[in-house]
Amino acid sequence: MGVKKQVGRTVVTAFPHGFCAGVERAVQTAEAALKRFQPPIYGFKAIVHNRQVVEALTAKGIVFVKKIKDVPKGGTVLFSAHGVAPAVRTAAGARRLKIIDATCPFVSKVHAEVRRYAAGGYAIALIGHRGHDEVIGVVGESPERVVVLENESEAENFQAADPAKVAVLTQTTLSEDETERVLKVLKRRFPGLVTPARSDICYATTNRQQAVKALAKTCECVLVLGSASSSNSNRLVEVAESAGCPAKLVSDLDSLEQLPDLKTMQALGLTAGASTPEPLVEAALAVLRRRGFRRVRKLRVAKEDLHFSLPAEVREEKRF
Ligand code: SF4
Repeated sequence: MGVKKQVGRTVVTAFPHGFCAGVERAVQTAEAALKRFQPPIYGFKAIVHNRQVVEALTAKGIVFVKKIKDVPKGGTVLFSAHGVAPAVRTAAGARRLKIIDATCPFVSKVHAEVRRYAAGGYAIALIGHRGHDEVIGVVGESPERVVVLENESEAENFQAADPAKVAVLTQTTLSEDETERVLKVLKRRFPGLVTPARSDICYATTNRQQAVKALAKTCECVLVLGSASSSNSNRLVEVAESAGCPAKLVSDLDSLEQLPDLKTMQALGLTAGASTPEPLVEAALAVLRRRGFRRVRKLRVAKEDLHFSLPAEVREEKRF
């Protein structure tokens, strides 16, 4: 594993980690909506896949629901960073809901690609995880044309009516390496496979995975702060493990306090998924300091300065 000699017990923190531009925008959109509109504001599904973020927004007044019919007619609904299927927008329209749309622009791009390929008569292979909110929304753009492929074996068995007209898209938060393996199968089976000009895996996912690979080279274990429902956090654990370093998803400070096997470690890696708030990272560093990791070293693989503007609904005075 090539563990470097460290001076004293050290936490090596990966940069970038934590909030990406899409999550930052979604959280700021929710906060702006709370200021701008009459409560209650209903969040359709978790705004981002992080328990602490959802709890904090709930405490501020957002009411999270799982079904559009749980939003009273004429109410205000906030769509999450993961996006929604057109059928959800139709259902919201039928209830005369005011929509505030916090869908990440990178997810909206995948929706647009589905519409474009579907209009061109392509069968669309979507590499992703079936039950994930983002995938459910993307499939909803053209359920008759999109087939979700979770792994290489599903790619081997994928059938298209016209093998010359197949396009491939991906969920934004997948493992780059795993996706490449599935793509390789599709490219072999469908030589004319059409792919978007730029990968659908977003910059934040790519950067955090590169950073965790660097951590894996220099640490005895990597801790990933993030909720169990967070796709990109789970992928960070897998990427570290694939690089030969044990890794663990840590969803809260209690579980960090209870980790039994940190005593013998000299170099512990720490990173956080794209929906994990920075105060949790700071609090985790404080816990680790108490547990004997007196030094903190930063390991930066990329700089990020992308920020999205907020949706028009919360920017303009009278949108509705
Ligand atoms: S992880 Fe990527 S796609 Fe998902 S919200 Fe962040 S920037 Fe957008």
